[in-house]
Amino acid sequence: MSDGTGRGFPAHDARSGSTVSEAAAGAILTIDLGAIRENYRRLKARLSGVRCAGVLKADGYGLGAAQVASALAKEGCDIFFVALLGEGIALRKAIGPGPDIFVLNGLPPGSEPEAAAAGLCPVINSTTQLKAWRETARGMGQSLPAAIQVDSGMARLGMAPAEVEAVAGETGAFDGVDIRFVMSHLARADEPQQAANERQRHEFERLRRMLPAAPVSLANSSGIFLGPAYHYDLARPGAALYGVNPTPAAPNPMLPVIRLQAKVAQTRQVGAGAGIGYGHTHQADGPLDLATISLGYGDGWHRRAASAAWFEGVRLPFVGRVSMDSIILDISGLPAGRLGEGDLVELIGPSQSVDDAAGHAGTIGYEILTSLGARFHRRYIGG
Ligand SMILES: *Cc1c(COP(=O)(O)O)cnc(C)c1O
Repeated sequence: MSDGTGRGFPAHDARSGSTVSEAAAGAILTIDLGAIRENYRRLKARLSGVRCAGVLKADGYGLGAAQVASALAKEGCDIFFVALLGEGIALRKAIGPGPDIFVLNGLPPGSEPEAAAAGLCPVINSTTQLKAWRETARGMGQSLPAAIQVDSGMARLGMAPAEVEAVAGETGAFDGVDIRFVMSHLARADEPQQAANERQRHEFERLRRMLPAAPVSLANSSGIFLGPAYHYDLARPGAALYGVNPTPAAPNPMLPVIRLQAKVAQTRQVGAGAGIGYGHTHQADGPLDLATISLGYGDGWHRRAASAAWFEGVRLPFVGRVSMDSIILDISGLPAGRLGEGDLVELIGPSQSVDDAAGHAGTIGYEILTSLGARFHRRYIGG
């Protein structure tokens, strides 16, 4: 990848490609591409014949869009979604021509020629974007592919019902636009009992009927689990591929994908009354064995996350505040001397899932994944 300056800076993407050796890193992130492939197969099995895309926005939910794309391609996945044009351009460079890449947020005004040159398909979210793409196609003397997104009741992205009605009555509105999909997005798909889902589905049906006939797409990960009525012609899962539970009220039907381990930087013993960490927010009631690990909020581990690490099935609670580059653990539950410098403790893995970590932090698995920092040694397995 070029940095665009033409000065030949080293070509690397700190997030997608591991730039830190295992020995040098403070923490190790293992990404199981085989588990991502198995999750794709599980979703495909539920979709019984319906096509299934891979959503790779935010660098593949923090796990490396290029690596995830090539793993999914081996399962026959040939449609990818990113959020931003820049992500699409980078992904196109990484995976080459062939798979369709859709840009969910649409194109910033003026960027249409760049998108067309990279062979990307915008998700058209407004009449302004539709006009700009139509003009671009006309200028190039060819038709250009796109998806049309309608807002069926989330008020985030997509043409509002009034806009859909307006373009439906306009002759030539879609001239030169090769409509690959008409799509919409569900606001509450992870709450299957919510009437909002059926309301959105019916509104989607109404709106898409006003548009030229094309394949349709509605379901994200959780939407797939709302049943066949939501599957249409293409599903667009992201989170479930990466092991986040798409059915929060039920056990996770997906395989875990990541393991995050941090190295012990130092161990110590403190006596009763010792103040621990910034602000001395924790004071030892009695003698405590502590270990400081090389991972902190600078690695995307939220400072307000009151949580724990694990070692051989033993819970090691955080004590004091999370620092930028370190966290102090109470290791008194382990035999003295069991944990030493360089040993690895688990932050995410068999003892603590992405969703568990999110729960402690008062957030969602999506945010845990996309926050995973650039300083980890990244190890891909199962590719
Ligand atoms: C992010 C996104 C998806 C994927 O959602 P998940 O919940 O991660 O499966 C699908 N469609 C759109 C429009 C999105 O923004």
